[in-house]
Amino acid sequence: VAEGGEVTYKKIQSKQIMGSIQLGIQHTVGSLASKPKRDLLMNDFWEMETIAFPPDGSSLTPAHHYSDFRFKVYAPIAFRYFRDLFNIEPDDFLMSMCASPMRELSNPGASGSIFYLTDDDEFIIKTVQKKECEFLQKLLPGYYMNLSQNPRTLLPKFFGLYCFHYNSKNVRLVAMNNLLPSDIKMHCKYDLKGSTFRRKASKAERQKASPTFKDLDFADHHPDGIFLEADTYTALMNTIKRDCMVLESFQIMDYSLLVGIHNLDLAAKEKREERIRNARAKLQRKEGGGATTTTTTLASDDDAPEADQLNQLHAVASYASIPGTSAAGLNRTRSMNRQRLVAHSTAMESITADLDATIEEGDDEPKGGIPARSSNDERLMLYIGIIDILQSYRLEKKLEHTFKSILYNGDTVSVCRPSFYAKRFQDAMGKQVFKKTPTFPLKHSPSKR
Ligand code: ATP
Ligand code: CA
Ligand code: CA
Repeated sequence: VAEGGEVTYKKIQSKQIMGSIQLGIQHTVGSLASKPKRDLLMNDFWEMETIAFPPDGSSLTPAHHYSDFRFKVYAPIAFRYFRDLFNIEPDDFLMSMCASPMRELSNPGASGSIFYLTDDDEFIIKTVQKKECEFLQKLLPGYYMNLSQNPRTLLPKFFGLYCFHYNSKNVRLVAMNNLLPSDIKMHCKYDLKGSTFRRKASKAERQKASPTFKDLDFADHHPDGIFLEADTYTALMNTIKRDCMVLESFQIMDYSLLVGIHNLDLAAKEKREERIRNARAKLQRKEGGGATTTTTTLASDDDAPEADQLNQLHAVASYASIPGTSAAGLNRTRSMNRQRLVAHSTAMESITADLDATIEEGDDEPKGGIPARSSNDERLMLYIGIIDILQSYRLEKKLEHTFKSILYNGDTVSVCRPSFYAKRFQDAMGKQVFKKTPTFPLKHSPSKR
């Protein structure tokens, strides 16, 4: 996160971009409300709408404090249809996008894209290059044909494509689903391609608070891979296989599997430690104030370190009533919101499309992740999805790139690389990254055989 210095993109202040696109999205979602829902037509995919936003306002747009800009919306009716497909109500979309300022995410990528995260954690807006924007336009009909046939997918869900025009510069942006809920701590994050060539997080990246690691780092951290129940493993691999087939058919490569790992055992430990820390701090403050301590005991976790001390400290804490109820309450409303909106795109549902398949979870265990184990038997929750799919080999090679040629061109040289990429990707995910849990528990020998 670029705190301190001004963040710019194409020499435009990031704040100006963010504020302007919020105005733009607000306008387009608002004006769509007057257009009745109808079936999608082919030309809806090519349509664009441009609105001018003079600072003084106009009959259509409000006055604002940013510089004069224009806002272009690609395929508004088509994207409305897609949002509808994912049960995203116009009001919810509007609230997520426009009600509060978005947060800027630090981007480990080399492309220089800026990422914004909506305050409610639902959507990510990413700046894309012109050729990526054009590619997405061409991709849309086929992509969504696929999505509506097969909602069980890890492919990104695109909810809008926009262009912010200011001072003869264009900033193109795509709105998509956020894969990593920020209220769930990711103990580790990986961007995996199945390649090993230079796939190591840079030193600068590793020094960040929440670095995104790469394939070689993964092999280093998890030499035995990550273990999944047999059914989960099969569902995941089938999904990846189908997704790769789609990507290959569009000659897309260089995509990644983003894997966020929440370690439940580590989280429990951290929680205990935090409780001790908080209570200790409170005790110190209390002692300064000369208060007496009460002697209620806390039902301690059996393996809690310093359990006695914790009990004592907790007694003080509860006496002083500091359990942070307000913050907890806030989190609860937020996660309820999140369940309502993102229910269709949690990692677990992406691979099973079956609500009953979610395993029984503890009350305060994070929802929506894919349950897994590390090789030393720690309980994990995985948050995953395929990202960065707007690079087509065909475009990179500057070949003719109509939608038709993507589909029908039988040029074997050009399909070779995407197909190699897809195969290597699948192999790596199915053989090195994810493993099927042995039928006997890890750490124990198979006594019944
Ligand atoms: P490059 O082309 O250099 O690889 P890029 O600018 O195209 O980078 P991406 O590869 O799309 O960026 O994403 C970079 C990082 O941003 C990812 O590794 C991940 O940490 C984060 N990220 C991207 N998309 C999402 C998403 N949908 N949800 C959560 N995090 C994301
Ligand atoms: Ca990438
Ligand atoms: Ca990219």
